[in-house]
Amino acid sequence: MTLYWNDGRFVAHAGVSAFSHAVNYSCGVFDTARLYPSEKGPAFFRLDDHVNRLFAALKTVGFSTRFSPARVHRAALKLARQSALPSAYLRINAFLPQEQLRVYPEKREATLAMVIAPLHYAGKLFEDGLSARISSFRKASRDAVPPGVKFSANYLQAYLSLREARDSDFDEAILLDSRGKVAEASAQNLFAVKNGALLTPSTKSEILPGITRDTVLRLAEDLGVAVKESDLSVKHLSAADEIFLTGTATEFMPVTRLGRRHLAVGPITRTLKAAFDDVVHGRHGFSKKWLTSL
Ligand code: PMP
Repeated sequence: MTLYWNDGRFVAHAGVSAFSHAVNYSCGVFDTARLYPSEKGPAFFRLDDHVNRLFAALKTVGFSTRFSPARVHRAALKLARQSALPSAYLRINAFLPQEQLRVYPEKREATLAMVIAPLHYAGKLFEDGLSARISSFRKASRDAVPPGVKFSANYLQAYLSLREARDSDFDEAILLDSRGKVAEASAQNLFAVKNGALLTPSTKSEILPGITRDTVLRLAEDLGVAVKESDLSVKHLSAADEIFLTGTATEFMPVTRLGRRHLAVGPITRTLKAAFDDVVHGRHGFSKKWLTSL
């Protein structure tokens, strides 16, 4: 049985009205985190960074909550302990639950709901990698929507770009930003490797500055891999030696086909992925600061 945490209570069901503000306007923020098996038992990876990002998003959209980040952190640990799962995916949604037919309600106290579940990512294995195409949908300009916020409505673009990709037999979509530079995949950050150096779009592009992206940047620095955060054109991407995508749910996925071009899973991708696995499973010097045991 799935267990939920809903506004402070552990419950077997977390529902919402079909005419809630959340459903009517796709107006809510969320975050996710991963629980990994480690030598000291299951542990969350960078839980506070995820919780803090959720609270920053709440601030951006102007929703209040009666819960503190510390309370959400404790509730996540309790939910994970009760689930007894060794490895799982945590999702925290914050939304306005009241039936509301107006876009801008006076009262904006968010309900916070959490669920923890085994991850059924319908993706491929690391060794197989993903096929990806450049999407005809672009990221919205930062003047239209803040790209660094996990705002539910932002995922319409992700949905449409994935629909287009799947319809044309690709696993993933790579979106360009409003200037026509490479931004990110539907819900993953993008890295390319050229002549041994790691390249990734900077936060000037309309990307979500992912927590996995930040982890990769710190691991690259630690391993002495040269990193350049800068604009990346489609031409640069097409000439890359290696390409991989990162995100909390999908972790680390090489792109093994971009359009018609096939790419191998390269050495920098493998080295960083091995370091990432060590970190999340408690075998790396960085594990101590980033893992929270239950
Ligand atoms: N970009 C977008 C649009 C995303 O939704 C995600 C998933 N959260 C990412 C990038 C990767 O971010 P993270 O590593 O924090 O999961």
